[in-house]
Amino acid sequence: MEHITDILRQGLEEYGLTDKIDPWAIQNLDCYCQMLLEKNQVMNLTAIREAEGVARLHMLDCAALLRYCDFREKTLVDVGTGAGFPGMVLKMLAPSLHVTLLDSLNKRLDWLLECCEFLSLQNIRTLHGRAEEYGLKRGERENFDFATARAVADLRVLCELCLPFVKVGGKFLAMKSVGCSQELADAEHATKLLGGRVAQVEDYRVPGTQVTHRLIVIEKQTPTPGGYPRRWAKIQKEPL
Ligand code: SAM
Repeated sequence: MEHITDILRQGLEEYGLTDKIDPWAIQNLDCYCQMLLEKNQVMNLTAIREAEGVARLHMLDCAALLRYCDFREKTLVDVGTGAGFPGMVLKMLAPSLHVTLLDSLNKRLDWLLECCEFLSLQNIRTLHGRAEEYGLKRGERENFDFATARAVADLRVLCELCLPFVKVGGKFLAMKSVGCSQELADAEHATKLLGGRVAQVEDYRVPGTQVTHRLIVIEKQTPTPGGYPRRWAKIQKEPL
């Protein structure tokens, strides 16, 4: 089996990212991969159970975002981070990024904090709770350059959970599969209503796989109107 650091290095090279990345980042990702697989034996963190799959389908998948955005010295909230995707990967690859990992499941966040400590990552914090509640809070609302979400919800719902966090001029990055065209069309109203505009749709192949994923970049143009996000029951029952 190929070594994980080689898989990561080759994948980043395929993306054309190697010059931008500190060699330590690859060592850190390798270590995070091992910690994830070990913890996954006792806590449900990922359905992927071997290192190569984690390196490609989680880490390189998340690393693709660096092709489309400059994260240096910026702030980012990762909504529904789970085991840290994409927030942890972006933090390791762009160390000057200030990252907030948000999830409603505290035990995953506790484990992520242990990882951050072990890897000596600075300027990274966790927020435990529901995105739709934090999105209303002063200090969190319209306070981030970027919000990200991967495998969390339908795009209409995601717009309501994520766009309130983004500053005007910032971006919401939704990581989706290529089969999301209908979802994208259905989210047009929500995007506009919450102050966003679809600025870019980028398809990319995950290195070393036949998997193609889609990144939807939604630019925040105007502030999100008061009253959004609504309560979870309302968001689910009446998506925008
Ligand atoms: N983003 C990670 C990834 O790509 O592997 C995790 C995906 S996991 C399927 C979805 C995560 O979103 C879960 O950890 C869940 O607790 C969290 N989540 C779902 N809805 C949420 C909400 N409204 N507020 C905060 N976290 C939420």
